[in-house]
Parts: sequence; C-alpha cells; structure tokens
Amino acid sequence: MDLAALANGVLVRPAGAAPPVAFAAEELARYLGRIFGRRPTSTTAAGPPGDWLVLARNAAATRLPSASGVEWLVEPAEGGLAFVGDRPRTLLAAVYATLAAVGCEWSPDGEERIPSAGDARRALPRLAGRPAFARRAWASDIGTWHLGVPERLAARLPDDVAFVDWIAKSGGTALHFIRHANDAVWAVAPLVPELERRGLAVERGGHAIVELLPRERFAAHPEWFPARADGTRTDLGNLCGARPEALAVVRDGAARASGGADFHVWGIDVFGGGWCACAACAPLHPSEQALRVVNAVAEGLPGGARAFHLAYHDTLLAPRRVRPGPRVWAEFAPRERCYAHALDAGECETNRFYRVALDAHLEAFDGRVEAFEYYGDAILFGGCAVPLVDVIARDLECYRRAGVAGVACLTFGTFSLLAHGANLEAFARGVHDPGSATGARGRHAARVSREAEAAVADYLAALERAMAGVVRHGDLLLPPRDPTAAERIRSTLARLAASAPALRDRLAGASGPRVDVERACFDYTVQVLAAVETWLRADAGDTAADEAHAAFAAARAQLHAVAGASAGTFGAHDLEILHFAVAGMLRWPDEPMPRPFLGRC
Ligand SMILES: [Zn+2]
Ligand SMILES: [Zn+2]
Repeated sequence: MDLAALANGVLVRPAGAAPPVAFAAEELARYLGRIFGRRPTSTTAAGPPGDWLVLARNAAATRLPSASGVEWLVEPAEGGLAFVGDRPRTLLAAVYATLAAVGCEWSPDGEERIPSAGDARRALPRLAGRPAFARRAWASDIGTWHLGVPERLAARLPDDVAFVDWIAKSGGTALHFIRHANDAVWAVAPLVPELERRGLAVERGGHAIVELLPRERFAAHPEWFPARADGTRTDLGNLCGARPEALAVVRDGAARASGGADFHVWGIDVFGGGWCACAACAPLHPSEQALRVVNAVAEGLPGGARAFHLAYHDTLLAPRRVRPGPRVWAEFAPRERCYAHALDAGECETNRFYRVALDAHLEAFDGRVEAFEYYGDAILFGGCAVPLVDVIARDLECYRRAGVAGVACLTFGTFSLLAHGANLEAFARGVHDPGSATGARGRHAARVSREAEAAVADYLAALERAMAGVVRHGDLLLPPRDPTAAERIRSTLARLAASAPALRDRLAGASGPRVDVERACFDYTVQVLAAVETWLRADAGDTAADEAHAAFAAARAQLHAVAGASAGTFGAHDLEILHFAVAGMLRWPDEPMPRPFLGRC
C-alpha cells in the first residue's frame, strides 16, 4: 500500500453510521489532504455492520479484519487500509493513531505538526489499540470555568475545545466535569457537543450529594439530613443514609443528572466529610456511609452505567460492613500521598499506607477499582512547576499491575499546561503504555523550544529531581505543623532555594516566548516556596503568614506579567483565591489540613 496513492482513492464508511464515525472519516480525509495535497472521495456502503472505514483505490472492497481482543485495528488489505473500532470513539482513535504513525504530532494547546508529503510515512504496518487502561479520563472542577462570568468562559472556550480535540487525538475516553456544592450545572454546556461528536464520554457528578438532596427539604424532613454528635440535625454535609426516603431522593436526582453515563457520587469536599452521627449511622465508618449512598444511586442508573464511590480523605479506608453493588466502582484518589516516589516505592512509608489502601479496595470491590490522580493539580502543587514524568510512568505501571481498570487525571485548564505540561503528556502516553510515559519530557521540551529541546528536557529532569524533596506532604504551600516534619521540610526548601540559580541556568541557552514562560513559572515556584520556608522558620514572628501572603502576591504578579493569557483562567483568577485560602490557613493556629497518613521517606 502507498498512502499517497490512497489519498487519491475512495474512503468508504457504513451508511447510517454514528456521527463520530463520519467525523473520523472527515478527519482522515482532511489530514490526508493536508499532507498529500489531495483527499479521497467519501462514500458509504450498506454493510457490513460495525464501526469501520476502508481507504481503497476504488470502492470495490470492504472486507474487514476481525478486531476481537483489541479496541481498534488498522490493517493493510488488498492494497488499501481497513480501520475497525469496537465503538465509534475507538474508530476515531484508530484514525488518529494512523496519522500519528504517518508523522502527525498534536499538542494539548491546539498546535500541530503535519509532515510534508516527502516526510510522511507512506507504508504502514498493522496497528492495534491495546491500551493499559480501559477508561482514560481527564477531570476538571466546574467552578474553574467561572460560568457566572460569561466573558471569562468565552475567553477560555477555544483552549478548552483544543484540549477536547487533543483528548481524542491522544486516545483518551472521557472528560469528567466535577461538581461541587454551589455549582449550578452538571457539565459545561458548550463542551458537551465537542465531546459527543468525537464519541468521548461526558461524565458528571462530584462532591454533589449536597445537590442531590436539595437543602430546602430540610424544613419538612430534618431527619433526612446528617445528625451532629449531639443528635441535632444539620443541613450542612451529606445526608442520613439510614433514611430510605433520603436515599431515594438522591437516587432519583442522580438518575436525572447522569445523562445515562457513569456517575460520580462523592461526599461534600470538606474536612471531616459531613457524615451522619445518628444512632443508626454512627457505627458505620464514613466510607461505609458513603458506599450506602452510592449503592442506592447505582440502582437508579440505566443499565451499563456505573456509579463511582470515592476513596479520599476520610473515606480512604475500604468499606467492610457495607458491600458494594455490582455496578459500583471505587475511585481511589490518594491526594495526600507522596509524589516524590511512585505509589509502590518500598522506601516510601507514606505511599506504603496508600498502596495498602488500594489493595484493600481491590479486595472489597472485587477488582472494580479505578484511580484518580493529581498530576495536573494546580491547587495541590500551589501553582508551582512540578514535573513528575518518572513517577507517572512508575505509578501507571503499578496501577496496571495491581489490576486497576481505569485512570483519571485532574487538570486546571491552560494553567496545567503551563505548570504541569510534561505531566499531562506523560499521563496521555502512559495510559496506553506506562513505559512510554517517559518520552513525554522530550515531547514537552520540543514544544517549549525546538532549537533547545535537549537543554529544556535536561532542565525538566533536573527540576523533577529537585522538586521531589518537597512534594511529599500533600498541599505544597501548606506544610505540616508538627515541629519535626516542619523542620525537615524547611531544610529541604532551603536546599531547593540554594540550588535554584544552577537549575535556572540550565535554560540559559534557550530562548523564545515559551522559554520565557517556563522560566517565569520556575521563578514563581522558587519565590512562593521561599515564602513558605520563611514561614516555617522557628523564629518566624506573628506576621509571618501576612508576609508569606504578600510574597505569594508578588510572585503571582510577576508570573502573570510574563505568562499573560497562557496562565489561563486559573492563573488570572483562581490562583489569587488559592493564595488567600492558603494564607488564611497559615494564620490558623492548629493543623488545618487532614493528613490521612504522613510518614517518612
Ligand atoms: Zn444517620
Ligand atoms: Zn515518598
């Protein structure tokens, strides 16, 4: 076969195919046209059934290979090329995988590199999709879209559409819109058609039990709501799961909200969890109270849809006294784990705790467990540049080997590309083949600077090693209060500050606007961590938190002056909110953060 010749031929798809199949055909024709200067004639055939395309010299042959045991298959056949997917989305993935094999490269910010006809690979081997994880999702908090401020939404939508396009091009499966208390919708409406036309799943739900049991029902039915330790009922928190009527209201609300897809049933995102202390609920652990709600929700979802139980903060212990229903899956979200080490690193006491918790969930849920990871979390990492390429590769291999079936990665829009761009690339690769995640460093470096790719990759690797010392205790800007841990972190931060000039020098040979942004992100990181180090000093005075807040603001302003629009909505608005929240917690006299486990490593 010769793709250049086939670009002059015919592209056949099944008549009456799902819209993503027609979209896949259009994408294949469009890119062949851009590469070879001519595009195939599109046509349809009455059969065979399924999600497929055939690119041929003429419309005669539509014999398809069997794609059993794989998500998709691309096979040279009779001088042409046959594409078969096990569903519309995977057929589109097959088209993009083929174009990548031809030489196309895509970025999450919408940039692309298309080979010339002379550079393009024209003869392809058989390609097959055998990803390490069945579900490969991205997740974002609805609040970060600022839906109440239309101009902010309008400003970021083109970047969001580019990111959705990249999800499809990199073989992802879904975008999860995370709803919190106070959000008014279950999804960001303008992105839904963008996801659907590519066959990507629109997943809804989040910390939203509070929305599913409307608070106005409290006046008539206070007994549906959580009891405090003294027995009085409160409309704060989740619900009283001992009340079948309350569970029924939540079940029916979730069925309406889910859109028929997998649904995430998480408790409210507050310290302490918001669970019930009535006589009937008190014997149950928060994770058991939570699972009782998820079981009820699963019964109301349409066939095939799953309900996700969150293992996070106070629900990290696997439930024992409540058994999960057959369509209930655990979502393991080890937010306060150590990111210096992979989840299965034997030398890391912190991660040993989380690894044991993962195994307990695999047992309690009969293997129905997925992971929710924070590699792009600008809140957890305080907006700092934190490359985690090697950890992501090892984590994903650990999850795969443990039997975890799917993974999701939290992101904060354009800002995550800025501060965690290599991580997003590593996740997108690693969900197919964990070992390939390490190639992300080079790919991201090339995006920053083609000319100085090696220097940027070297800088990223050095920064990853340097930051490993400080990503061991959960929220980066909120170190633990106990004096031993605090002093250990302070001295690590001091060492990082001492090594900063040499680290920064690694970018000295690189230039260009993207290098400037990379450098500004580094400077921001060094400045805010220096402020935390000062706050941690034993002789810090009463105004230390205020001084840290002022230093955060100065670092943020400097970052924004260089990064501008590439800091996204998060950089323009949410980072300031985060800094206020962090400063408030630094002023708090007691340990404000729940730390399920903080060991030594
Ligand atoms: Zn109760
Ligand atoms: Zn560790």
